[in-house]
Amino acid sequence: MSSRCWRRGAELLFAVLLCGLLQGAAVAAEEFDYGLVPRKLADDTWVLIGKTEDFNRSNGGNIVNTAFIVTTEGVVVIDSGPSRRYAQQMRRAIARVTEKPVIRVFNTHHHPDHFLGNQAFAGIPTAALAATIAGQREEGGAFTDNVYRLSGDWIKGTEPVPADEALRPGVQSIGGHELELISLSGHTSGDLVVLDRSTGVLFAGDLVFYQRAPTTPHASIAQWLAALDRLAAVPYRLLVPGHGDPVGDGRAIEQTRRYLVWLEDALRRAAERGDEMSELFGLAIPAEFAAIPLAREEFARSVAHLYRRYERETLRRSR
Ligand SMILES: [Zn+2]
Repeated sequence: MSSRCWRRGAELLFAVLLCGLLQGAAVAAEEFDYGLVPRKLADDTWVLIGKTEDFNRSNGGNIVNTAFIVTTEGVVVIDSGPSRRYAQQMRRAIARVTEKPVIRVFNTHHHPDHFLGNQAFAGIPTAALAATIAGQREEGGAFTDNVYRLSGDWIKGTEPVPADEALRPGVQSIGGHELELISLSGHTSGDLVVLDRSTGVLFAGDLVFYQRAPTTPHASIAQWLAALDRLAAVPYRLLVPGHGDPVGDGRAIEQTRRYLVWLEDALRRAAERGDEMSELFGLAIPAEFAAIPLAREEFARSVAHLYRRYERETLRRSR
């Protein structure tokens, strides 16, 4: 073998090895990477948009919208996401936008996709409504087990950390942003909505879903509809739903409202007919909602969560 030939051979081998190494590094870096890219919505205001999917092993629970506001005092985080790993990556995403430290976290409600990242914000005041903290304490362990079952190792090392401060509704001024904290209920027994009066952005939590079927494991539809009336009267410029794209008008509130009205009516009528729960699972979903991601799955879950209540009410009324 000539020395030139040998050198070319060695270069080739080196290139192949380097390529293999780089590929290995890329795989390692991609593993459990939520790919969080903040989208700027308004001055100082960023959102991380989740997929309109169920928890699964490829999305790792990145199915929720989280947000942050960069104030002059520091960063305010609204919802911490579905896992410790998500929140660690969220902190890195925030650090790519600003050097300011995170100074406060709000949890909009106690569902796992909105607060299981709290662990990665240890030492930072984390506030939620009292009902939310009670729910986090009571159900956080079961939620974590369930999410782990659905999303696997994305969730590894995640512990449920309840918010450490029960917040009072009202206005808080933080670093030049006037935040109105509004206490509502209906999706759960404690649903916090944050209106940034300085930018007009309304963080609606899961009281509003847009192009993603609403979830109802802790819902009171009557309270939820009343909450939507309150939200519709808020003078916002941009609404960030808990799931789905932000909108600048009332269509997300309206879609959620129409869905809930239909759902309640379907459950009530079925109860009045004396249908068995199993008969409801195949019920036709109106075209308006059938095309929304997870409509069939969430309807089936809602039947399981809520139908007994409607059966009992019908029985009571008929006595
Ligand atoms: Zn949610």
